[in-house]
Amino acid sequence: MTTSVSLLFAWGMYGHQHINHAAVFALPVEMRFFFYNHIDFITEEATIPDLRKYTLNDRAENPRHFIDIGEPGTIPIDSMPRTMKEAKAKYDDKELQKLGILPWYIQEMMDKLTKAFKQKRKTEILFIAADLGHYLGDANMPLHTSVNHDGQLTNQKGIHSFFEAQLPEYFGNSYNYKVNDAVYLPDVTAASWDVVKHSNSLVDSMLLIERNLKETFPKEKIFKTDSKGDTAKNKFGLYVRSDEFAAAYHKALNGMVEKQLRHAIQDVANFWYTAWVNAGKPDLSDLDPEELTKANRKRYEKEMKLLKKGELMGFKVENEY
Ligand SMILES: [Zn+2]
Repeated sequence: MTTSVSLLFAWGMYGHQHINHAAVFALPVEMRFFFYNHIDFITEEATIPDLRKYTLNDRAENPRHFIDIGEPGTIPIDSMPRTMKEAKAKYDDKELQKLGILPWYIQEMMDKLTKAFKQKRKTEILFIAADLGHYLGDANMPLHTSVNHDGQLTNQKGIHSFFEAQLPEYFGNSYNYKVNDAVYLPDVTAASWDVVKHSNSLVDSMLLIERNLKETFPKEKIFKTDSKGDTAKNKFGLYVRSDEFAAAYHKALNGMVEKQLRHAIQDVANFWYTAWVNAGKPDLSDLDPEELTKANRKRYEKEMKLLKKGELMGFKVENEY
């Protein structure tokens, strides 16, 4: 795939920050308060991998965010290499750069996180956990698993950021971010593929729903217009879907955006928890001064109370739309 500006904010800042933030509350108590002490970092760091990709123009970073399933001539998802080792045996560097390495990279991050837990290296735990949260978020965005990553093959350009950034920003404040307690994943390799497979299974319908909607929608009302009534481009040079069209698409998706965000939160909590268990459940309580944990307790209780009602607080996301 080619690098597209519409991928600049995968899940948008709104989505990624909500995913990492909410995941902290699904952790078991032995992990929760350590993570909560650093929840601002975990939340803000959620968008850093995308910045690394574009601002630093880091070539190695780009393929970590996607896997192009469905590339003509490629094999079906179930026959794809399961691990990075198998992938490297099958594809050369250039091919991997083009295909993307998302599920394999998630597995690598899990190894790194497990090691960091084992060694009780605080800074590394936090960095890797936050980054892993980002990639799991990406994996839950259907178009990050598809060769048709921006609807470019079906005349739907711009749908990528429309789905993952504009919609969460418009409607995300009414979503419920409380997920179940983290569960242990006995097979990380299988789990990483489950995320990708489920996400990929939604690609056709999310694209089809938009195409169908476009046919029934007045043409001049699909995109935002400027004061002269001409179709307006945003700062990335893309046409932006109108508020009315966004509302109609969001409704027609029947909860898909919220469900995928919730899936992502659950995955992040499950993967973090699994790494900690595989590291032998190290005691994290001595990584921070006791006073800090105590001082944060009140804020935590307040947030948890709100979250139980489905609300999320504690941070503010900059608007992109
Ligand atoms: Zn990304």
